Amino acid sequence: MAKKTMQDVELTGKRVLIRVDFNVPRSKTTGEITNDVRIQAGVPTIKYLVEQGAKVIIMTHMGRPKGEVKEELRLDRVAERLAELIGQPVKKLNEVVGPEVEAAVAAMQNGDVIMLENVRFLPGETDNDMELAKQLAALGDVYVNDAFGTAHRAHCSTEGVGRILPGVMGFLMDKEISVLGKALSEAEHPFVAIVGGSKISDKIGVVQNLLEKVDCLMIGGGMANTFLKAKGYEMGTSLVEDDKTALALEIMQHAEAMGKKLLIPVDLTVAAAIEQPETAQTVGVDAVPADKMALDIGPETVKLYQQAVSDAKTVIWNGPMGVFEVDAFAVGTASVAQAVANSGAYSIVGGGDSVASIEKAGLNDKIDHISTGGGASLEFLEGKKLPGIEILQDK
Ligand code: ADP
Ligand code: MG
Repeated sequence: MAKKTMQDVELTGKRVLIRVDFNVPRSKTTGEITNDVRIQAGVPTIKYLVEQGAKVIIMTHMGRPKGEVKEELRLDRVAERLAELIGQPVKKLNEVVGPEVEAAVAAMQNGDVIMLENVRFLPGETDNDMELAKQLAALGDVYVNDAFGTAHRAHCSTEGVGRILPGVMGFLMDKEISVLGKALSEAEHPFVAIVGGSKISDKIGVVQNLLEKVDCLMIGGGMANTFLKAKGYEMGTSLVEDDKTALALEIMQHAEAMGKKLLIPVDLTVAAAIEQPETAQTVGVDAVPADKMALDIGPETVKLYQQAVSDAKTVIWNGPMGVFEVDAFAVGTASVAQAVANSGAYSIVGGGDSVASIEKAGLNDKIDHISTGGGASLEFLEGKKLPGIEILQDK
């Protein structure tokens, strides 16, 4: 069921309580914002609300203050950055709810923007405490959820408030859902998926759901080890989930029964340890030394995966092909990323580390949709319903 958007409700003169995901990375030493992509992503929605003459009250979390006030997690810098980006003042409050907040909201003119303090300073936020939800909801007339990155969490500001106020999607939420939703329901074929990352247990839902939709699924990263082990290969000291080999086998058999291509590595880059890149060597999957671990896909696998990507019309990618944080083991991820970028396919990348690996490879501009939601995009691709979306009004 499609959800209402901002265009479906009256906004002029209304107090609009909006949840964004401005949980930006910051420098550990200076606290400066090191990457403001998440703030930029919220700008269109906020500008639109201002143009409509709404009174814009922004909620976001930052970091994990665990229900306590943490000075370093106050939102002053975030509000400053947003003010620069939208070209108008953003009044940052020092409380999430209470008399100071109520007075500030009461004094707002149409088109004003205020930002509440970090919602996770209050323990009720992550508990989805309805008393807190009521206090927050009392600040607004309309609720806009634009925080796709936290839509998989049922917290006060992402879900509880939506039980009280009429809720609609912001532009970012709308875009994420329509792009990811279309990929799952009406992708152009050949449709290929690339799934990597560390563990099969984290990605099993994604693999199973995507396998139903795609023509070809490529497995890389640490989770490939479990598939290889399941096929009888010795994996040395690699990360292997022994309790998941039966599941891996089942997935491979299921893929075959459906006539789908499921590709797993044919060679690997192995080393004694992540910290010892000087010991790296390329081996076939049948020749992993007993004292080494697989840390990246090898060059033959890269070729195979590049080929599978080259004639795709749609590509979904989640999870790096290796330990991309270390240059010696980033080659597989970077090469596959390059192939995705070069292909004519509509390309979608989701997942926190996957997006970081695309940034590391400098290929952001070449990917059609980079999802702002890590965990949320994964759960969406698993076919799960996200509470922060479900709570919004149906069209
Ligand atoms: P995402 O955040 O994009 O969903 P994941 O969190 O599932 O991705 O996986 C990313 C992590 O997987 C990275 O930290 C990477 O170092 C790790 N990883 C990839 N390949 C391997 C491997 N062969 N062995 C151990 N860890 C790996
Ligand atoms: Mg991750």
